[in-house]
Amino acid sequence: MSPQTFVVKVSPKAPQKRLILTAAEILRRGGLVAFPTETVYGLGADALNAEAVKQIFVAKGRPLDNPIIVHIASAAELTALTSDVPEEARLLVKKYWPGPLTLILQKSPGVPEEVTGGLDTVAVRMPQNRIALALIKALGHPIAAPSANLSGRPSGTTAGHVLQDFAGKIDMILDGGPVAVGLESTVLDLSRRPPAILRPGAITAEDLEPLVGRVVMGRGAEAKKRSPGTRYRHYSPRARVTLVEPGDTPAMAATAQRYAEEGKKVAVVARHFGPAAKTNVIVRVMPEKLEDYARQIFAVLRELDELGVDEIVVEKTEERGIGVAIMDRLKRAAAR
Ligand code: AMP
Ligand code: MG
Repeated sequence: MSPQTFVVKVSPKAPQKRLILTAAEILRRGGLVAFPTETVYGLGADALNAEAVKQIFVAKGRPLDNPIIVHIASAAELTALTSDVPEEARLLVKKYWPGPLTLILQKSPGVPEEVTGGLDTVAVRMPQNRIALALIKALGHPIAAPSANLSGRPSGTTAGHVLQDFAGKIDMILDGGPVAVGLESTVLDLSRRPPAILRPGAITAEDLEPLVGRVVMGRGAEAKKRSPGTRYRHYSPRARVTLVEPGDTPAMAATAQRYAEEGKKVAVVARHFGPAAKTNVIVRVMPEKLEDYARQIFAVLRELDELGVDEIVVEKTEERGIGVAIMDRLKRAAAR
């Protein structure tokens, strides 16, 4: 599509107007621009331009029935995108936007079906990142943006990751430095009762329940139908991922050893890993704090791919707070 991908450094605190206007002009002409959000980098197109949105699917190799999140810069934009904004949505918007919370609502006829994968609902969020917000405002339209990674791969959390996947395939990358959260937004389906979390993220069920009452975790066949993105093996490095129970250093060492003896190049990704591996194993020690872990995990998985690792043995984290989202991504990275 585009012969050259321009990468420009943009100030995350005070985005340079000239750079934002250039990026917005590319979007206005139907091009693709990757930009930072607080969760991961997004690959953006004008959400109201169906042809441009199609190019996102082409660039990512994304299945056409996997809908894309629409990013807005003011809550007022919800009116044009949705046909019904329930009271719960208003409460959540007030408390959590801008922020890593995506709401699934009934769509209005104006939203192209390319964006919603033919569903009658639309996913919307307001990102907490000045570059993203400035770009949406400069375009004057909402921006449709999935995570900026080839379909199935770990999401990009730096401009360098985005360039790895999209050099020569998209028009521009706005480099606003590393992201703050590191995992994609929580996706909450408010189009049915009780509301269901279709994808866990930094905002947890415990955060949501005081405002909207009981929230269920959308798992299994029903969630897959409602959120097509959760059908696919996802967030995966090229290497095979094996999960081991938290703190079980002997199991991690034995698993790594076994793969190494098979002649594989092996890595261990763990928060607690002693000097137990006898063989030549790459070890990445992860932060104890789950928020820090979340920020780094996709970068580590990508780095191990770059090193040509065949097998990655990963210590599970506890499933509380953002650990629920971390484990969701790790389980899907390990799915075969
Ligand atoms: P990504 O944009 O790559 O972060 O993925 C977006 C996620 O939101 C995917 O899992 C999609 O399936 C999900 N999603 C987007 N729109 C909808 C929708 N209208 N209904 C249900 N899930 C959606
Ligand atoms: Mg994605």
